Amino acid sequence: MTTLRAEGVSKRYPTARGGVDALRSVSLGIASGESVAIVGPSGCGKSTLLGLIAALEPPTRGSIVVDDLDLAGLDEAARARYRREAVGLVFQSTNLLPFLTAVENVDVALALRTQSDPAAARALLETLELAEHADRLPDQLSGGQRQRVGIARAVVHRPRLILADEPTGELDTTSSARTMDLLRRVQRELGATLIVVTHDEGIARSLDRLVYLRDGRVVGDTASTRATGV
Ligand code: ADP
Repeated sequence: MTTLRAEGVSKRYPTARGGVDALRSVSLGIASGESVAIVGPSGCGKSTLLGLIAALEPPTRGSIVVDDLDLAGLDEAARARYRREAVGLVFQSTNLLPFLTAVENVDVALALRTQSDPAAARALLETLELAEHADRLPDQLSGGQRQRVGIARAVVHRPRLILADEPTGELDTTSSARTMDLLRRVQRELGATLIVVTHDEGIARSLDRLVYLRDGRVVGDTASTRATGV
C-alpha cells in the first residue's frame, strides 16, 4: 500500500533569463488507494509535479517520500528502478508500436521489465473490455480503444502508483468517461494510488479528490462532490 508525502517541494528550471519556478514549496499527502486530480491553468506546474512524483527528475528543494522511499535522495539508477517497479505512466498519446498487436504491445512492456507473459497481458485487456480487440493492430482500433491499450501497457507490471497526464486529452466526452471508468477499475483491482493531471472538470470530479495548483503552489485541496456525496 502506497502513501505519498511531498514536503516543501520546489522545482526551478534554469533558463537564459535566470530560471522559472515551476513549483514553489508544494506540500501534499496522498493516501494509499486514493484517486486525485491535479488541476489548474496551463503552466501552473501540474506536469512538473507529476514528473517529480514519477522520479523523472529530482526536486530542487524539498522531499517526496513514497512509502519509505525518499525520491530526492535517489541516484539515477535507483530512480530508474523505482520507475520500472512502482510507477505506471499513462500519457495523452499512447505511442503504441504500430507493427505489434494490442496484446503484443502490452506484453512487450512486461518483457522489458521482467519477462513476457502473454496470458497476463490478455487478462488485463479483458479487464479493460478489449478481449475481442486483443489481436488487432493499433490502426484497427478507435482512439479510445488505443488509449485503453496504453493504460494496459502502463500497468501490466502492477505498479503501486498510476500517474496519468491528460489521459483523455485526445478523446471525445463519451470515450473519455468510459476510459476513466476502466482506469478506475484497474486501479481498484491493483489497489494502486491514482494521480491524474487533467483540464477536464468532469474527469476531475470523477476522482476522490481535487488538488488545485496556481503559479506552482497548491491553492485548493478538496474532496470531490462524488466522494462526499453532495
Ligand atoms: P502545466 O503542466 O500545469 O501546464 P508545467 O509543469 O508543464 O505546467 O510547467 C510549469 C512551468 O515550468 C511553466 O512555466 C513551464 O514553461 C516551465 N517548464 C516546464 N518544464 C520546463 C523545462 N524543462 N525547462 C524550462 N521550463 C520548464
